[in-house]
Amino acid sequence: MQVKRVLRAIALVPGLVLLGPAGPDAVAAEPESKPAVANGARVAGDRERTRFIADLSKKVDLHVFALGSPYRVIVDAPDVNFQMPDGLGKEQRGLVTAYRYGLFAPGKARIVIDVAGPFLIDKAFVLEPRDDQPARLVIDLVPTDEKTFLAGLKEAKPQPGVSELVTAAVPTATRPPDAKPVVVLDPGHGGIDSGTNPNGIPEKEVVLAFAKTLKEKLAASGRYEIHLTRDDDTFLPLRERVTIAQKKSASLFLSIHADYFPDKVDKATGATVYTLSEEASDEEARALAAKENFSDALAGVELPSDSDEVLANILIDLAQRETQNRSVVFARSIVGELAGKNALHTKRLRSAGFRVLKAPDIPSVLLELGFLSNPEDEKRLTSEAWRNRTADAVATSIDAYFAKRLARNPF
Ligand SMILES: [Zn+2]
Repeated sequence: MQVKRVLRAIALVPGLVLLGPAGPDAVAAEPESKPAVANGARVAGDRERTRFIADLSKKVDLHVFALGSPYRVIVDAPDVNFQMPDGLGKEQRGLVTAYRYGLFAPGKARIVIDVAGPFLIDKAFVLEPRDDQPARLVIDLVPTDEKTFLAGLKEAKPQPGVSELVTAAVPTATRPPDAKPVVVLDPGHGGIDSGTNPNGIPEKEVVLAFAKTLKEKLAASGRYEIHLTRDDDTFLPLRERVTIAQKKSASLFLSIHADYFPDKVDKATGATVYTLSEEASDEEARALAAKENFSDALAGVELPSDSDEVLANILIDLAQRETQNRSVVFARSIVGELAGKNALHTKRLRSAGFRVLKAPDIPSVLLELGFLSNPEDEKRLTSEAWRNRTADAVATSIDAYFAKRLARNPF
């Protein structure tokens, strides 16, 4: 028990450290309750000086800083309502290779600008609205060398432990022995991270709709206490999702995603079930885990350093074997149900190093519902009939998992 508690702490403490400000910061705004509306953005200039501009309905307080690996500018503002035209953020110009925006946390908006190489934030300010011009957020980037860039990051490094996102300790709630098992459903992505499907209905919407339907199905049986890690369009870092499951004393954790496979648009179809493993079961699983794990980087969350990650991995591994066995039992249960519905991409269980499956004490499975790159799958994944059918199957697999556990381990 002692060991387990220590492992839990180690698994949660590293990471999620936000870097402090680098460069100009905090532009004063008039206090007013209505959030500013951002309704346009563009990039101007060239590689010598690149300017990012966003149109705002009024001035906002800004917090602008840089992150490395990959190179990014992060713009945080307390509350911005994004009403941007579709398709923004993909243009490549000067130092900017892409940008995205959305809710980062409740009441906290974020813009993440991907940058091609080492850079300095030369200017960052908000212009007052004038005549018929809206208020404008302006950020100027200039190229620099790697050494200067890194020196800038170091200077801006916050005090250790200073982060509104880090949860230092996870109190383990004591639950009465006859309490209902807790199932935590984790719709992937959200807010600033749309997930995959660049030209269609974003993954974040598909998986949230599915999670809500599945929650209803599970609630109807009255057998479980069910929580969603997010129930709106808000971003959640991967580790935060794990923390939520631990805080709720989850008996089971299911992360819900949808895949995108641009090379085999019409061929790849159906669901795939994944568990955690140190070594990926195959190349596709490895690539998928890398893609899903990139969520934090996309949203500008600083990842733990390599050494922290390696240490956490080794220690988690020791505590995790029993959890791992249970994860596989649950994964097989889903595969069995979905196979009956002819809804699988492959019956094979796949595994890789998914960060979101790393709670050492909670059986965790990641379900890719289908391929949004396949027009037929996309049609299915966004239809209510499919959602109901598939949520029924997954709910049945959850029933089967707990029935098996109770049979083996009554009290
Ligand atoms: Zn995903």
